[in-house]
Amino acid sequence: MVYNWLKTIQALAYPATCVLCGAPGREGRDLCRGCQDSLPHNRHACRLCALPLPATAPAGSLCGQCQQRPPRFDRCLAALCYEHPLDHLVSGLKFRDKLVYGRLLSGLLGDFLEHRGHELPELLVPVPLHPSRQRERGFNQALELARPLARRFGIPVDIRALSRDRATAPQSGLDKKERRRNIRGAFRLREGLAARHIAIVDDVVTTGNTVDELAGVLRRGGAARVEVWAVTRRAGGRKAIAPDG
Ligand SMILES: [Zn+2]
Ligand SMILES: [Zn+2]
Repeated sequence: MVYNWLKTIQALAYPATCVLCGAPGREGRDLCRGCQDSLPHNRHACRLCALPLPATAPAGSLCGQCQQRPPRFDRCLAALCYEHPLDHLVSGLKFRDKLVYGRLLSGLLGDFLEHRGHELPELLVPVPLHPSRQRERGFNQALELARPLARRFGIPVDIRALSRDRATAPQSGLDKKERRRNIRGAFRLREGLAARHIAIVDDVVTTGNTVDELAGVLRRGGAARVEVWAVTRRAGGRKAIAPDG
Protein backbone atom coordinates (compact mmCIF):
# COMPACT_ATOMS: atom_id res chain seq x y z
CA MET A 1 0.00 0.00 0.00
CA VAL A 2 2.73 2.41 1.05
CA TYR A 3 4.72 1.26 -1.92
CA ASN A 4 1.80 2.07 -4.27
CA TRP A 5 1.41 5.52 -2.77
CA LEU A 6 5.10 6.17 -3.18
CA LYS A 7 4.85 5.04 -6.77
CA THR A 8 1.92 7.41 -7.39
CA ILE A 9 3.72 10.36 -5.83
CA GLN A 10 6.84 9.54 -7.77
CA ALA A 11 4.87 9.29 -11.02
CA LEU A 12 3.32 12.72 -10.42
CA ALA A 13 6.60 14.34 -9.46
CA TYR A 14 8.69 12.68 -12.18
CA PRO A 15 6.49 11.66 -15.10
CA ALA A 16 8.09 9.00 -17.27
CA THR A 17 10.01 10.57 -20.13
CA CYS A 18 11.48 8.78 -23.14
CA VAL A 19 15.25 8.64 -22.65
CA LEU A 20 15.72 8.61 -26.41
CA CYS A 21 13.50 11.46 -27.66
CA GLY A 22 12.10 13.23 -24.59
CA ALA A 23 8.44 12.45 -25.42
CA PRO A 24 6.17 11.24 -22.59
CA GLY A 25 6.96 7.66 -21.64
CA ARG A 26 4.45 4.87 -21.97
CA GLU A 27 3.02 2.89 -19.05
CA GLY A 28 5.40 4.48 -16.56
CA ARG A 29 8.45 3.44 -18.54
CA ASP A 30 11.10 5.89 -19.72
CA LEU A 31 10.49 5.08 -23.36
CA CYS A 32 7.77 6.25 -25.76
CA ARG A 33 5.79 3.90 -27.96
CA GLY A 34 7.48 5.02 -31.18
CA CYS A 35 10.99 4.51 -29.82
CA GLN A 36 10.09 1.17 -28.27
CA ASP A 37 8.60 -0.11 -31.53
CA SER A 38 11.68 0.86 -33.49
CA LEU A 39 14.17 -0.95 -31.22
CA PRO A 40 16.24 -3.69 -32.94
CA HIS A 41 14.50 -6.75 -31.48
CA ASN A 42 16.50 -9.96 -31.77
CA ARG A 43 13.80 -11.86 -33.65
CA HIS A 44 15.91 -14.16 -35.79
CA ALA A 45 18.58 -15.72 -33.63
CA CYS A 46 20.59 -18.88 -33.10
CA ARG A 47 18.49 -21.10 -30.85
CA LEU A 48 21.43 -21.83 -28.55
CA CYS A 49 23.54 -18.68 -28.28
CA ALA A 50 21.03 -16.03 -29.56
CA LEU A 51 23.45 -14.74 -32.18
CA PRO A 52 21.39 -12.55 -34.53
CA LEU A 53 20.79 -14.39 -37.82
CA PRO A 54 19.47 -13.08 -41.13
CA ALA A 55 15.69 -12.89 -41.40
CA THR A 56 15.85 -15.69 -44.00
CA ALA A 57 17.27 -18.23 -41.52
CA PRO A 58 14.63 -20.88 -40.69
CA ALA A 59 13.30 -20.89 -37.11
CA GLY A 60 15.42 -23.08 -34.84
CA SER A 61 18.65 -22.49 -36.80
CA LEU A 62 22.05 -22.83 -35.20
CA CYS A 63 24.94 -20.51 -35.96
CA GLY A 64 28.16 -21.97 -37.38
CA GLN A 65 29.94 -21.71 -34.04
CA CYS A 66 27.26 -23.64 -32.12
CA GLN A 67 27.29 -26.36 -34.76
CA GLN A 68 31.01 -26.83 -34.30
CA ARG A 69 31.21 -26.36 -30.57
CA PRO A 70 27.96 -26.03 -28.60
CA PRO A 71 28.14 -23.74 -25.57
CA ARG A 72 28.08 -25.06 -22.00
CA PHE A 73 24.85 -23.19 -21.25
CA ASP A 74 21.57 -24.67 -22.43
CA ARG A 75 20.48 -21.54 -24.22
CA CYS A 76 20.81 -17.81 -24.27
CA LEU A 77 17.75 -15.54 -24.34
CA ALA A 78 18.75 -12.10 -25.61
CA ALA A 79 15.99 -9.58 -26.18
CA LEU A 80 17.66 -7.05 -28.46
CA CYS A 81 20.53 -6.66 -30.89
CA TYR A 82 23.50 -4.66 -29.67
CA GLU A 83 23.01 -1.84 -32.16
CA HIS A 84 21.92 1.76 -31.97
CA PRO A 85 20.34 2.85 -29.62
CA LEU A 86 21.09 -0.12 -27.33
CA ASP A 87 24.85 0.47 -27.53
CA HIS A 88 24.20 3.98 -26.21
CA LEU A 89 21.90 2.77 -23.42
CA VAL A 90 24.14 -0.11 -22.32
CA SER A 91 27.31 2.00 -22.25
CA GLY A 92 25.39 4.80 -20.50
CA LEU A 93 24.46 2.33 -17.76
CA LYS A 94 28.00 0.98 -17.47
CA PHE A 95 30.18 4.02 -17.87
CA ARG A 96 28.00 7.01 -17.05
CA ASP A 97 26.11 5.66 -14.05
CA LYS A 98 22.76 5.97 -15.83
CA LEU A 99 20.88 3.67 -13.49
CA VAL A 100 17.61 4.83 -15.06
CA TYR A 101 18.79 3.02 -18.21
CA GLY A 102 19.26 -0.10 -16.10
CA ARG A 103 15.61 -0.11 -15.05
CA LEU A 104 14.50 0.45 -18.62
CA LEU A 105 16.74 -2.30 -20.06
CA SER A 106 15.70 -4.72 -17.35
CA GLY A 107 12.04 -3.97 -18.16
CA LEU A 108 12.61 -4.68 -21.85
CA LEU A 109 14.35 -7.97 -21.07
CA GLY A 110 11.52 -8.88 -18.68
CA ASP A 111 8.89 -8.26 -21.38
CA PHE A 112 10.81 -10.49 -23.76
CA LEU A 113 11.14 -13.28 -21.20
CA GLU A 114 7.48 -13.07 -20.21
CA HIS A 115 6.40 -13.78 -23.75
CA ARG A 116 8.56 -16.89 -23.97
CA GLY A 117 6.33 -18.81 -21.57
CA HIS A 118 9.14 -21.12 -20.49
CA GLU A 119 9.90 -22.66 -17.13
CA LEU A 120 11.54 -20.10 -14.87
CA PRO A 121 14.92 -20.71 -13.23
CA GLU A 122 15.21 -21.03 -9.46
CA LEU A 123 18.07 -18.56 -9.13
CA LEU A 124 19.50 -15.53 -10.94
CA VAL A 125 23.25 -15.02 -10.99
CA PRO A 126 24.52 -11.69 -12.36
CA VAL A 127 27.92 -11.91 -14.10
CA PRO A 128 30.34 -10.86 -11.34
CA LEU A 129 32.80 -8.02 -11.82
CA HIS A 130 36.35 -8.18 -10.53
CA PRO A 131 36.41 -6.37 -7.14
CA SER A 132 38.72 -3.63 -8.48
CA ARG A 133 36.35 -2.94 -11.39
CA GLN A 134 33.35 -2.97 -9.07
CA ARG A 135 35.05 -0.44 -6.76
CA GLU A 136 35.90 1.81 -9.67
CA ARG A 137 32.36 1.69 -11.08
CA GLY A 138 30.56 1.64 -7.74
CA PHE A 139 28.02 -0.92 -8.90
CA ASN A 140 27.64 -4.03 -11.03
CA GLN A 141 25.44 -3.34 -14.06
CA ALA A 142 24.44 -7.03 -14.28
CA LEU A 143 23.11 -6.87 -10.73
CA GLU A 144 21.19 -3.66 -11.54
CA LEU A 145 19.50 -5.61 -14.35
CA ALA A 146 18.92 -8.75 -12.27
CA ARG A 147 17.23 -7.08 -9.30
CA PRO A 148 14.08 -5.84 -11.08
CA LEU A 149 13.82 -9.20 -12.88
CA ALA A 150 14.03 -10.99 -9.55
CA ARG A 151 11.16 -8.88 -8.21
CA ARG A 152 9.11 -9.29 -11.34
CA PHE A 153 9.43 -13.07 -11.57
CA GLY A 154 9.82 -13.82 -7.85
CA ILE A 155 13.23 -15.46 -8.17
CA PRO A 156 16.10 -14.87 -5.72
CA VAL A 157 19.38 -13.29 -6.86
CA ASP A 158 22.65 -14.73 -5.66
CA ILE A 159 25.58 -12.34 -5.59
CA ARG A 160 27.73 -14.43 -3.27
CA ALA A 161 27.97 -17.78 -4.99
CA LEU A 162 30.45 -16.66 -7.63
CA SER A 163 33.50 -14.47 -7.53
CA ARG A 164 35.72 -13.09 -10.25
CA ASP A 165 39.19 -13.60 -8.86
CA ARG A 166 41.26 -12.67 -11.84
CA ALA A 167 41.12 -9.31 -13.60
CA THR A 168 40.93 -10.05 -17.33
CA ALA A 169 42.04 -7.99 -20.30
CA PRO A 170 39.14 -6.54 -22.32
CA GLN A 171 37.86 -9.22 -24.70
CA SER A 172 37.72 -6.76 -27.59
CA GLY A 173 40.88 -6.74 -29.64
CA LEU A 174 41.62 -10.41 -28.93
CA ASP A 175 41.16 -13.20 -31.43
CA LYS A 176 38.91 -16.17 -30.81
CA LYS A 177 41.51 -18.39 -29.13
CA GLU A 178 42.93 -15.57 -27.03
CA ARG A 179 39.47 -14.66 -25.78
CA ARG A 180 38.82 -18.15 -24.56
CA ARG A 181 42.21 -18.29 -22.85
CA ASN A 182 41.75 -14.81 -21.37
CA ILE A 183 38.56 -15.74 -19.52
CA ARG A 184 39.47 -19.32 -18.53
CA GLY A 185 39.65 -19.75 -14.75
CA ALA A 186 38.46 -16.18 -14.08
CA PHE A 187 35.49 -17.27 -11.96
CA ARG A 188 35.26 -19.34 -8.83
CA LEU A 189 32.36 -20.88 -6.97
CA ARG A 190 32.59 -19.69 -3.38
CA GLU A 191 29.81 -21.72 -1.90
CA GLY A 192 27.51 -24.56 -2.84
CA LEU A 193 24.63 -23.86 -5.19
CA ALA A 194 21.16 -23.92 -3.73
CA ALA A 195 19.54 -24.37 -7.13
CA ARG A 196 19.70 -26.74 -10.08
CA HIS A 197 18.21 -24.41 -12.70
CA ILE A 198 20.05 -21.12 -12.94
CA ALA A 199 19.99 -18.08 -15.21
CA ILE A 200 23.10 -15.95 -15.65
CA VAL A 201 22.15 -12.28 -16.17
CA ASP A 202 24.24 -9.93 -18.31
CA ASP A 203 23.90 -6.65 -20.20
CA VAL A 204 25.54 -7.70 -23.44
CA VAL A 205 26.75 -11.05 -24.74
CA THR A 206 29.53 -10.46 -27.24
CA THR A 207 31.37 -13.66 -28.15
CA GLY A 208 29.65 -15.74 -25.50
CA ASN A 209 32.99 -16.79 -23.96
CA THR A 210 32.35 -15.14 -20.60
CA VAL A 211 28.92 -16.68 -20.05
CA ASP A 212 30.18 -20.00 -21.43
CA GLU A 213 33.00 -20.02 -18.87
CA LEU A 214 30.53 -19.13 -16.09
CA ALA A 215 28.15 -21.86 -17.21
CA GLY A 216 31.02 -24.36 -16.96
CA VAL A 217 31.72 -23.28 -13.37
CA LEU A 218 28.02 -23.53 -12.44
CA ARG A 219 27.74 -26.98 -14.01
CA ARG A 220 30.77 -28.23 -12.12
CA GLY A 221 29.06 -26.89 -9.00
CA GLY A 222 26.03 -29.07 -9.66
CA ALA A 223 23.71 -26.93 -11.82
CA ALA A 224 21.67 -29.15 -14.12
CA ARG A 225 20.29 -26.40 -16.32
CA VAL A 226 21.98 -23.09 -17.05
CA GLU A 227 20.53 -20.39 -19.24
CA VAL A 228 21.68 -16.89 -20.02
CA TRP A 229 19.40 -13.86 -19.85
CA ALA A 230 20.94 -10.98 -21.73
CA VAL A 231 19.48 -7.62 -22.65
CA THR A 232 21.47 -7.50 -25.87
CA ARG A 233 23.46 -9.77 -28.17
CA ARG A 234 26.22 -8.50 -30.40
CA ALA A 235 26.18 -9.74 -33.96
CA GLY A 236 29.75 -9.46 -35.16
CA GLY A 237 32.74 -11.71 -34.94
CA ARG A 238 31.23 -15.02 -35.83
CA LYS A 239 31.19 -17.00 -39.00
CA ALA A 240 28.28 -17.17 -41.32
CA ILE A 241 25.13 -18.91 -40.60
CA ALA A 242 24.17 -22.40 -41.48
CA PRO A 243 20.71 -23.72 -40.75
CA ASP A 244 20.47 -26.56 -38.29
CA GLY A 245 21.13 -29.70 -40.30
ZN1 LIG B 1 10.93 8.27 -27.72
ZN1 LIG C 1 24.90 -20.05 -31.82
